[in-house]
Amino acid sequence: MNLDKPAILVATTNPGKLAELTAMLGELAEQVLWKTLADFPHLPAVPEDGDTFAANARKKALGYARGSGLLTLADDSGLVIDALGGRPGVHSARFAAEDYSSKKEPLDRKTIDRLNYEKVLRLLKGVPSRQRTARFVCRLCLADAEQVLLETEGTVEGFITEEPLGENGFGYDPIFWLPSLKKTAAQLAAEEKNRISHRARAVGNLKPMLENLLRNLRCR
Ligand code: IMP
Repeated sequence: MNLDKPAILVATTNPGKLAELTAMLGELAEQVLWKTLADFPHLPAVPEDGDTFAANARKKALGYARGSGLLTLADDSGLVIDALGGRPGVHSARFAAEDYSSKKEPLDRKTIDRLNYEKVLRLLKGVPSRQRTARFVCRLCLADAEQVLLETEGTVEGFITEEPLGENGFGYDPIFWLPSLKKTAAQLAAEEKNRISHRARAVGNLKPMLENLLRNLRCR
């Protein structure tokens, strides 16, 4: 019986992402010694150049697991809009990049987010509301250096508005309408969004699988 806590590297440098993940995992998080990429400053970055969220999450999990020798959990997420053939998809973070990459000064995150959603609104101009269906998707992958061990997905369905609404959140939240709540994601309080988000759903799906994996590791 192995009583040491197994270590899991979360493929992010953002301490907020780790805090969000451990809060979502609840007591299960206490069974793990969590690390982030900040603990491995010399690891080369794994490029996110896959065609799907699943490919990117796998690539990051396997790449950082090989570099660190630890079990590694990676995610990839974004917005999928049906009327745009699935775009921005894996390009969500830099959808309007051609509008700002020529600028001399690097732009702040809020401006980049605004340019991204304004591009979506431009492309959807004249598309009737019923055809403005979209979803946020989050893909999670846990791997060791040899193979993918666990994969889950979480999605939230909604519609793209015609105008931005709300001040909270980030990314495409101001244009993502949640019909059951009659609000955009940017009109939700952080706790409410964290309860229903694609990330919360992906982590919720991961939880029983991770519990099982940790139990098997202890029995070794
Ligand atoms: P990441 O893979 O979590 O870094 O997300 C990639 C991009 O997808 C972000 O930069 C946002 O543009 C978009 N995105 C992902 N999750 C959300 C969300 O919860 N709200 C709004 N935009 C999101």
